[in-house]
Amino acid sequence: MPYDLVIRGAEAILPDIGQVACDIAVADGKIAAILAPDADCAAEARFDARGLVILPGAIDVHLHLGHGKDIARPRVPEDAARETAAAAMGGITCFVPYLMATEPFEDMFDEVCQVTAAGARIDFGYHFIISTEAQLAGVPGYASAHGVPSFKIFMNNRGGEGARLGLPDIDDGFLLRLCEAAAANGGMVCPHPETIELAWITRKRAQAADPNGTGGLATWNASRPPFVEADAVQRAAYIGQVTGAPIYIVHTSSAEALDAALRHRRAGARIVVETCPHYLTHDILTPGDVAKINPPLRAPSDREALWQGLLSGEIDTVGTDHVHRDISSKAGGIWAASPGCPGLETLLPVLLSEGHHKRGLSLSRIAAVSATNPARAMGLGHVKGAIVPGLDADLTLVDLKAEWVMDRADVVSSAGYSIYEGWKFHGRVEHSFVRGRAVLRDRTLQDEAVGTGRYVRRRLQGGQSNVHPD
Ligand SMILES: [Zn+2]
Repeated sequence: MPYDLVIRGAEAILPDIGQVACDIAVADGKIAAILAPDADCAAEARFDARGLVILPGAIDVHLHLGHGKDIARPRVPEDAARETAAAAMGGITCFVPYLMATEPFEDMFDEVCQVTAAGARIDFGYHFIISTEAQLAGVPGYASAHGVPSFKIFMNNRGGEGARLGLPDIDDGFLLRLCEAAAANGGMVCPHPETIELAWITRKRAQAADPNGTGGLATWNASRPPFVEADAVQRAAYIGQVTGAPIYIVHTSSAEALDAALRHRRAGARIVVETCPHYLTHDILTPGDVAKINPPLRAPSDREALWQGLLSGEIDTVGTDHVHRDISSKAGGIWAASPGCPGLETLLPVLLSEGHHKRGLSLSRIAAVSATNPARAMGLGHVKGAIVPGLDADLTLVDLKAEWVMDRADVVSSAGYSIYEGWKFHGRVEHSFVRGRAVLRDRTLQDEAVGTGRYVRRRLQGGQSNVHPD
């Protein structure tokens, strides 16, 4: 039987081996074989990839897929078509958005999956944000029947703060019970770590010091400083360890939060640490209010501490925390602007340009933090995340030498802007394949890919993340 496709002439990043010249054969949407360069074989199609490097398709396990300014859920297939297009541009071949609702997820999940699949160009999963008693009661079924083993909780939703997202408040007792339910059902908890009682004090002080917000991102950071984040990280990690629930620390922004997570990992807690591209590239010196994000951008020294964590292996994953509200959501000064920025289409460009070229982050580490680790952490490792025969042929081909400038006119996401406008990138995504089919070819989106993305059921191996096997 001939292969469906053979990608020839490139160098691929293989697990445990690194960069190797090889051909990759695809059959039935899966990687069928890793072949010697120019090996003699029968194939229906050949793809010349000379001069390029093949990475496992990036897997973004932190984003918000919504509709217009609503970040709860997609409403129409176009929402998914547009943001998965942005994902493909950034080398992402699978993503796992956070689904937010007040009703039980079993009442709406099939419809959300249908709407997403009808537009999706790439494969997708979903995490559930747990905020109500009915949702908490549903956790066993979400893990087993829906293939959703990862649950987010907004630790900062107290004292009426949940209303900002249309959610009820929770407390540490609720977090404890969610961790118990996750541990008992092969699940994982993804806390948004901020201790809001501390932030109420620091916010009041920052507002008194800078009522008009002229201090921009530095003022925003002062209103929710790193210890607010680090305190919640250590509390979640400890409750996770006591209950046996693996904890996935989302959007680590500061050296203090990273230290808190690592202290508990050393003490035996099962912890996966994620950071986001914007914490690696932007800081409180960034002018304007557009890069207002929660947690805030930090000091330049935090930025470098996060790079060190990526280089050393202490940080496991990079997720985008993509929010596609348009630029009008940023109006009104730092106190009024809405938090969150788009990041899908710049994920691999940031890692290649700022990580590989500027800081010597190896391509193997980039494959690990952008694909292999998120896949393993989030229960996708049995189907995706590495260039290994038997796994889905999700492949991203990059030109390491290409230099280009990000322009607002090039932005694909419905956000319509990027915090990287004007940035000169070194390294570019040329082609993306999902299950052996091109969704991006010569940097051109393939329209026939719309609606071919599939929902992927996830399961954590042995009920645990295996990023740090022991
Ligand atoms: Zn987020």
